[in-house]
This record gives sequence, C-alpha cells and structure tokens, in this order.
Amino acid sequence: MGYYDNRTLVTGGAGFLGSHLCERLVKRGADVLCLDNLFTGSKRNVSALLGDPRFELMRHDVTFPLYVEVDRIYNLACPASPIHYQRDPVQTTKTSVHGAINMLGLAKRVKARILQASTSEVYGDPEVHPQVESYWGRVNPVGTRSCYDEGKRCAETLFFDYQRQNDLDIKVVRIFNTYGPRMHPDDGRVVSNFVVQALRGQDLTIYGDGSQTRSFCYVDDLIDGMMRMMDSDKGFYGPVNLGNPGEFTMLELAEKVLRIVGSKSRIVHRPLPPDDPRQRQPDITLAKNKLGWEPKVGLDDGLKETVAYFRSIL
Ligand code: NAD
Ligand code: UDP
Ligand code: UDP
Repeated sequence: MGYYDNRTLVTGGAGFLGSHLCERLVKRGADVLCLDNLFTGSKRNVSALLGDPRFELMRHDVTFPLYVEVDRIYNLACPASPIHYQRDPVQTTKTSVHGAINMLGLAKRVKARILQASTSEVYGDPEVHPQVESYWGRVNPVGTRSCYDEGKRCAETLFFDYQRQNDLDIKVVRIFNTYGPRMHPDDGRVVSNFVVQALRGQDLTIYGDGSQTRSFCYVDDLIDGMMRMMDSDKGFYGPVNLGNPGEFTMLELAEKVLRIVGSKSRIVHRPLPPDDPRQRQPDITLAKNKLGWEPKVGLDDGLKETVAYFRSIL
C-alpha cells in the first residue's frame, strides 16, 4: 500500500469537517470515497472536488451495511449541532452506534485502519478542568443531549472492544468545538450563529448569562491533528484530545464577533438549554507529545476568516 495512493473512506464527508478533510486528502494524493446521507451536509460543500478523478461522492446512510474496499476509514458521520442531533434523537444514537458497528465490521473485513471522530461531549458537564483523556466525564444518560453524548461514548466502547477482540487498527480523537468556513449558516452552533447574526444586523443570542466557556479550534488546525493521528504509529489508539486550549466565555465571544464584523447588533439573552456544559477546555499534552501537534490559529484570526466566508455567501 503506497502512502499517497491510499483508498480512503470518509463518512460524513460532505459535512463541515468532512469536506475540509476530503479536500486535504485529495490534495495529498489519496483516493477519496466520500460517503454521506446529506442530512446536515451538502453536495455544495464538496462541489470543488466533484470533477476530480480521485474523488467520489456516495449517498449512503452508515446505519446500513456498506461493502467497499478501502485502506483507511475516517468515521465522521453524525450531526454535530444540538438543534440537528436533537431533531431525530433516535436516529442520532443509531448513527453513532450502528454506524460504528458497520464501519468497524468493514474495517475488520478489509483490514483497514479506522479513526473515530469522537467529541469533548464525552466529558459532559465536567468537574475536571481542563479536561484530560483519563477523565471519565459527567454525562446525563437520560437528557436531551444524551442521544449524542451517549451515542459517541458507546461508539468509543465499540472501537476499543473491536481493538481488543479483533486486533483492529483503531484511532480515536476527541474533538473540541471547531469552527471555520463552510459551517452551515443555520447550523445553530454558537460561532456561526453569532457571525450570521452580526452580519445581518440581528441581535446576538446568548443562551443564559454568557459566563459559560468553550475553547474554539480553527478548522485547518483540527484537520491537521486528525490526519496526524491517522498517520501515527500503530498501537497508539488514543483517545486523544484535539482542540485549542484558548478558553472564552460566550460573552467574550459575542464581543469579539461584534468588533471584527464592525456590527451595531445588540446582545440579548435567551434561556440556557438543559445540561449545557458550564466550562470546556482541552488539555492537549498528549497530542503534543504523541503527534507533535498544537493549534496555530488564534481565535481573532480564525474569526476573521470565518466572517469573510459568511460575508461571501450571505
Ligand atoms: P456536520 O453536521 O457538518 O457533519 C456531519 C456529516 O455527517 C453531515 O454531512 C451529515 O449529512 C452526515 N451524516 C449524518 N448522519 C449520517 C448517517 N446516518 N449516514 C451518513 N452520513 C450522515 O458536523 P461536523 O462539525 O462536520 O462534525 C463531523 C464529526 O465531527 C461528527 O461526528 C461530530 O460529532 C464530530 N465533532 C465535531 C465537532 C465540531 O465542533 N465541529 C466537535 C466534536 C465532534
Ligand atoms: N459490515 C459492513 N461491511 C463489511 C463487513 C461488515 O457493513 O464489509 C457490517 C455488517 O452489517 C455487520 C457489522 O458490520 O453487521 C459488524 O460486522 P462484524 O463482522 O463485526 O460482525 P457480524 O457480521 O459477525 O455481526
Ligand atoms: N450558545 C449561545 N448562543 C447561540 C448558540 C449557542 O449562547 O446562539 C451557547 C450554548 O448554550 C453553549 C455554547 O454557546 O453554551 C456553545 O454551543 P454550541 O451549540 O456551539 O456547542 P456545544 O454546546 O455543543 O459545545
């Protein structure tokens, strides 16, 4: 198997992160099969790749079996924004759990290396701060976020059991809040909401008092980390945190967006959704040591790129 002619499957490849990943993989010479049911993703996200002979888009739902021959699998299929993953919560859990079983079964049959896009949500509303990989988390099993959080936790369990039971070549990354160009304008996540609201001159909607924190990673940095993990030594399974440790309150984020856009929008407060984590910040010591990775793009620079993107499409 040549390094640069890998047949690489990307599930959820027409989504925000998936489309950036497909682009980078094609650029480096991989043969990419992008699989997506287009629930939150779109053909437009990968339109620039559609004519490339190394790229193929397949409409398929990962909860159904898939028989293809590939060398590497990035498993990203799953809606990531609360409004989307809560629209059909049973399907969300199925996507994470049945999707993981199918992709692991595929990896087992064709002896492919497989990477799972897990999430900082496995830590829930954490009492350990910043979050280290050894922390087991504090997740509500019966709330409105549980379909996503517990689905992703179960997927991690499946990955590690397939590794132990079948000696599968697995990799698990826990992704912290990531933003950038190609987020869907109605995606509902905080960065896209604030930027779109500021550009349209609408009120910026802060949920709760805005003192909750998140740590925002620019998409290019995140994709770089994910690819480094895929290329890392066999036997390093993770889970490994990928995110930018720069931590901000939602109030600080709103003020930054207003300043960068030069908007006169006001800040308004809306009710805080249930189980909304109070604070979140990755400890990335493991990624630094094992992958030689750390993010390079600060929030101000990343927001400028993101604002420029939304300006161009709105
Ligand atoms: P996204 O919603 O843009 O992408 C998800 C993609 O998966 C979409 O293209 C969607 O159509 C597809 N999909 C959903 N269900 C599917 C199914 N059953 N079969 C096939 N395709 C399906 O979100 P994103 O931000 O690009 O997230 C990608 C992955 O990264 C997700 O697994 C998400 O949980 C994870 N993640 C993202 C973040 C973030 O901040 N962006 C943080 C943590 C984890
Ligand atoms: N699977 C798939 N593609 C493959 C091989 C398996 O989609 O190339 C699915 C299949 O539907 C199966 C699941 O992966 O249900 C788990 O496969 P595994 O071999 O681990 O379990 P089993 O087939 O014994 O249930
Ligand atoms: N949030 C907000 N206004 C919005 C959207 C989200 O204040 O318009 C808050 C949300 O309550 C949460 C934080 O921003 O505290 C991040 O939300 P997002 O949905 O982007 O990600 P997640 O909660 O999954 O980390």
